[in-house]
Amino acid sequence: MSSPLASTAYLNGKFMPLAEANINVMTHAFNYGTACFEGIRGYWNEGRQQLYLFRMRDHYERLVKSCRILSLEPPGTPEELNQITIEMLRQDNPHHDVYVRPLVYKSSLAIGVRLHNVDDGFVLFYALLGKYIDNQSGCRCCTSTYRRVDDNGIPARAKITGIYVNSALAKSEAELNGFDEAIMLTHEGHVSEGSGENIFLIIDGQLVTPAPSENILMGITRASVIKLARRELGIGTIERQVDRTEMYIADEVFMTGTAAEITPVGEIDRRAVGAGGIGPITAKLQELFFQAVKSELPAYAHWCTPVYQSVTASR
Ligand code: PMP
Repeated sequence: MSSPLASTAYLNGKFMPLAEANINVMTHAFNYGTACFEGIRGYWNEGRQQLYLFRMRDHYERLVKSCRILSLEPPGTPEELNQITIEMLRQDNPHHDVYVRPLVYKSSLAIGVRLHNVDDGFVLFYALLGKYIDNQSGCRCCTSTYRRVDDNGIPARAKITGIYVNSALAKSEAELNGFDEAIMLTHEGHVSEGSGENIFLIIDGQLVTPAPSENILMGITRASVIKLARRELGIGTIERQVDRTEMYIADEVFMTGTAAEITPVGEIDRRAVGAGGIGPITAKLQELFFQAVKSELPAYAHWCTPVYQSVTASR
């Protein structure tokens, strides 16, 4: 892919060059943030000359749930969306990591804020994405002055484009103040999540992470880490309310996300977490995760959908 715009995209039922996959300025979703989306990483395995899409079916199942919350018509079943994604990538034949972005959006060219009586569209494209957080040796976080959106405000369990204003406010505040990432609290003052990541603490050899009721996105990387920790390391996870200062005294902290993968947190609010770098449990989980995403752990091969052979997509 010489220029990103030369790659193939899919818009409203047709494959086309990304340069032609354009929407009108009057589009409802562009004006009001009324779209749901996903981010799916594809990992290139050089040894096998294969591109593996990580937990694609789970991403499409979450997209369908997000659509339900935002009164959007899903553009197909997760199985159909898997096939369209595979076909799009096969057209370009990338031999490198990719980041796939499907969006279901309110497509009517109409002024008026509402969810009903508005048409829906679907677009799919992919891009290159390196490390989302550059500082991988222990990123520096701050507690954001922006609170996480509430389930009764904009429901965070749905991956809605408009929610990312909340994330962008927090992320820019953090970066402009010299930090790598923001950690947002709920309106009650408990830890929720990063601007684009879930958060885990390691306390007395166990994983602790904010519960689904803490206005988090139910991360697919979060679920993967919980499973890898339990099955491969015998480490359990407690999902509960987490106080801000628990982060200061945790043995290790890390963040998870499709873009952020497993990013160790070295510092929060100018206090070193543990020894300040990557902790031993985080390092082990990271190693397992990077093997799993390239389909190098047979027990988790079902998480990886190969692009370049005839497949029934897996979950
Ligand atoms: N929280 C937020 C706000 C996010 O944007 C993301 C990234 N999708 C996550 C958590 C992590 O979710 P996942 O592991 O499914 O990418």
